[in-house]
Amino acid sequence: MEPALSAAPPARKPKLVIAIIVDQFRYDYLLRFRDGYNAGLARLLDNGAVFTDAHYPHAHLVTAVGHSTYMSGAPPSISGIVANEWWDRETNQSVTSVSDPQTKSVGGIPGIAGSSPKRLLVSTIGDELKMADPAAHVIGISIKDRASILPSGHMADAAYWYDNDSNNWVTSDYYRAQLPEWAAAVNAKKTYRQFLGKSWFPFDAKDESGQPFCTMVAGTEARFCGNIEATPWGNEMIEAFAEAALAGEDLGRHRGTDLLTVSFSSNDYVGHAVGPDDPAVRDISIRTDRLIGKLLAAAEQRAGQENVLVVLSADHGVAPSPEVNKARKMPGERLSDFALTGAINDSLIRKFGPGKWLMPGQPAMIYLNLETIAQKKLDRSEVERVAADAARAQPHIARVYTRHDLAAGAVQQDAIGRAMMLGFNPERSADIFVLQEPYALFEAAPGSSHGTPYDYDTHVPLIFMGAQIKAGTYSQHVWVNDVAPTLAQILGVETPSGSIGRVLAEILQ
Ligand SMILES: [Zn+2]
Repeated sequence: MEPALSAAPPARKPKLVIAIIVDQFRYDYLLRFRDGYNAGLARLLDNGAVFTDAHYPHAHLVTAVGHSTYMSGAPPSISGIVANEWWDRETNQSVTSVSDPQTKSVGGIPGIAGSSPKRLLVSTIGDELKMADPAAHVIGISIKDRASILPSGHMADAAYWYDNDSNNWVTSDYYRAQLPEWAAAVNAKKTYRQFLGKSWFPFDAKDESGQPFCTMVAGTEARFCGNIEATPWGNEMIEAFAEAALAGEDLGRHRGTDLLTVSFSSNDYVGHAVGPDDPAVRDISIRTDRLIGKLLAAAEQRAGQENVLVVLSADHGVAPSPEVNKARKMPGERLSDFALTGAINDSLIRKFGPGKWLMPGQPAMIYLNLETIAQKKLDRSEVERVAADAARAQPHIARVYTRHDLAAGAVQQDAIGRAMMLGFNPERSADIFVLQEPYALFEAAPGSSHGTPYDYDTHVPLIFMGAQIKAGTYSQHVWVNDVAPTLAQILGVETPSGSIGRVLAEILQ
């Protein structure tokens, strides 16, 4: 057969990519709350390429790791972003994924240390855009520093996040010495003041006679309505700041393609406080639909609808609250990290004698004190083995891995074994990795959490929408790591350096 004489012209490159990530948004929120969506999420579901089985392949499902994967395609083993915080062997202290004592915060309280993408070892889509065309504008925005810095990358013009102490949007001198005028103008409005003392009523409440979810009195409720980020108004402030960035940076109207990454953080704070089955989670999800609609409209107004490419996902899901699960005859347990580390510590003392054995950490990632091991002239892998056996003997622990096992690739070759390998970075990762049974949580009541390789944590929305995209429902199993190579293909730039994903060619026009 003769080839067609005139193939369809390739779709033009977008002028603006909006990469949205909702912090803690399980895939099933698209289904369970669908009847409430009528704005941004509804548009994406109706007009986008919707993946129904998108997952993260790594084991430790937390904010920094999901956000670093989203625009790089790289797992923690390659990106170096192994957790939100870890024990840094080089400087002997806890560090966060973006803490950088060599930088200063800009726009908030003067003199305090800032944050940067220095610990991210790989490139992002924004970096590849910038390397291909320095005129590209790349901006990251979120309430959380890690959620604005890690997706936007090393060469971003700036990442902006919210500083609770000054109630200002800030950046760091890694990016620039001063806030741009448009950002300072947002801070000058002191929007947060209008939310103090305000009650959060259901989105469809006719008036304020009913029961609110909570009332914002700073400092009284630790995680729910106690701070602006744990309310729907946190997300509103993110959206408003993103609109200000679109205008202030004139995004979508430069020579090449601009990139704006926006992470909605409040969903995570609310979900932690009440768990995924609480009506407040449905409410904030529907409010997020409205905000995404507003953001897309603003972006399209600036760049033209045909010039905007949207991608949406989440950094992780969340487990059901154990109490809710037990009431419906499902498994569910609350575990004590204190009991776990106590048992490990006791067994090390019994076997090897007294000493400081453990460094600060978390149940999923336990760091041994290498000084004690050296002083006692012990074999590190033997100490790991004793610690792992003690962890394994605790109730509701599914698997325990040691650094020695992971470094040697000596793990059970199933999905969880592979997920652990993808999460293991020899320079930065811990010595003992503890995975609880499905539906068990190291979290105090009444809240919930995430962090495991189980589906309720790994299964997230993934939607692309734009002129380059074939709309439809795609049921194949894909990874969030496929986003970065797919964007690289559409934008005609190099694939980010640590990507393990593939181009989702099935959705390309
Ligand atoms: Zn979280």
